[in-house]
Amino acid sequence: MSDYTFPYDAARKQLLTENLGQVRQRIRAACERVGRDPDEVVIVAVSKRKPLSDIEYLRESGQLEFGENYVQELCGKEEEISAPVHWHMIGHLQTNKVKYIVDRTVLIHSVDSLKLAKQIEKEAAKKNITAQILLQVNIAEEDTKFGLHDKKQLFDLITEISKLSHVKVRGLMTSAPFVANSEENRCYFRKLHKLFVDIQAKNVNNIDMNILSMGMTNDYEVAVEEGATMVRVGTAIFGARDYN
Ligand SMILES: *Cc1c(COP(=O)(O)O)cnc(C)c1O
Repeated sequence: MSDYTFPYDAARKQLLTENLGQVRQRIRAACERVGRDPDEVVIVAVSKRKPLSDIEYLRESGQLEFGENYVQELCGKEEEISAPVHWHMIGHLQTNKVKYIVDRTVLIHSVDSLKLAKQIEKEAAKKNITAQILLQVNIAEEDTKFGLHDKKQLFDLITEISKLSHVKVRGLMTSAPFVANSEENRCYFRKLHKLFVDIQAKNVNNIDMNILSMGMTNDYEVAVEEGATMVRVGTAIFGARDYN
């Protein structure tokens, strides 16, 4: 491609492509262990705090799904990228920022209140689109994390959102605790999967329950074994993030 405005770094591109290939291979192995079809699992490459060039390299290798946590960063990258990709908003979203991302993202993973859902409805209606969302569940009930805490809260929210015409619930999302041994998170993934199946069984009008977004670098294989259909992987693909 000739339209790059950054120096082309073949070694970096190769590294990213290999890393992604390894993640894909591990997902395939995890699926094999539990008799799942690997095509059911979508990898969202979490590119927060990583340069646009990294995203461009991966896109050339066929990766289209990218996750960002910060509205400003997502918008900046969306404006500058040379060819479109599918942006996922995975970070906490403030109501006053909804307008910036509602028509730039394929999926908002982090909806955890009716107030936020209603704001998404309002902005999506203005743009005449239907926003696709996941409901974020704080499955380990950690005080420090966003997300819905209990089943009743979740079911009530689903009922309310099902009445909104420009918002479509597509599934559930969670961020499990940071643990040394990923096996410690298996119980949480299992619990969320069970909730996911329970909601599917209810057949609520205007609600689809087919995306289960769980698993990050440290625990995505366990998440896949427990039924994740979408994993959000940053570090294993891009390397450690620089927070300075
Ligand atoms: C940063 C982040 C990820 C990716 O984390 P890694 O450990 O780097 O894979 C996934 N999901 C959310 C919500 C994140 O904030």
